[in-house]
Amino acid sequence: MEIEFKEKVILITGGSRGIGRAIAKKFADSGGIVIINFNTNKEEAEITLDELNGSGHNAVKCDITDPVQVEKMVERVIHEYGRIDILVNNAGIYEEIDMDKTEYEEWMEHWERTVSINLIGPANLTFKVVEAMKTSGGGKIINITSRGAFRGEPDAPAYGASKAGLNSFSQSMAKALAPYNIYFYAVAPGYVETDMTTEILNSERGDAIRAQSPLNRVALPEEVAHTTLLLASGGTEFMTGTIVDINGASYLRS
Ligand code: NAD
Repeated sequence: MEIEFKEKVILITGGSRGIGRAIAKKFADSGGIVIINFNTNKEEAEITLDELNGSGHNAVKCDITDPVQVEKMVERVIHEYGRIDILVNNAGIYEEIDMDKTEYEEWMEHWERTVSINLIGPANLTFKVVEAMKTSGGGKIINITSRGAFRGEPDAPAYGASKAGLNSFSQSMAKALAPYNIYFYAVAPGYVETDMTTEILNSERGDAIRAQSPLNRVALPEEVAHTTLLLASGGTEFMTGTIVDINGASYLRS
């Protein structure tokens, strides 16, 4: 079965690099019209845009933690393209923190930053995109969460909590919005080979991380992209609310 997204309008946050870039490329290869959101990295966003097959793609600047910018981004996309069929909430940050060496002030800022990018930003963007999807007759929203939501993140507790929150948000929205033909999916990768993890994977912790999987490696961004496209394709409506693991059997749950 060939998956294709001809004429579908797809908005991907944090699309300038990493997993977002891989998702953007795969959607474009499958006929989609791709809008990549970027925050600061215009140069990288333009590189991604140049690499996309097909035509009609665009890059839109927006800090997803700013509700005004989020609203303007959605208005701009709707104005230019008329609809959003698929939203991928991919943008996120991973920050480690050592409680023993952290002042209260720093701790609070770390939580505020992580939760606003990884959870509140996607929730606000979802609100605005859902308004548009209700008008156009429906759509699909895929949230990129993390294995850390289940496994615990002792070095990055705000990250784990924010991703668990995003999983729960997906499930709640799946129930609330199915009557509008709006379907929600969460994709929960373990470690993936991107700029976010380069330092950790190249450090002395790298081998132990790879050994968490019986495949003795971490995921490639293209593997996360592949699953995202499967979920976004037709025929997955009854899977709404699901959370799909991409962790090479490094953490199994049932
Ligand atoms: P990355 O750091 O390469 O990309 C993250 C993107 O998010 C960047 O383009 C960045 O500019 C963007 N971003 C950050 N803050 C933003 C903001 N305020 N507004 C708009 N964009 C913003 O990381 P990645 O590895 O490609 O991760 C993509 C997603 O996958 C993230 O949500 C991450 O938590 C998740 N994830 C990654 C891994 C991994 O091991 N790499 C594992 C599990 C989940």
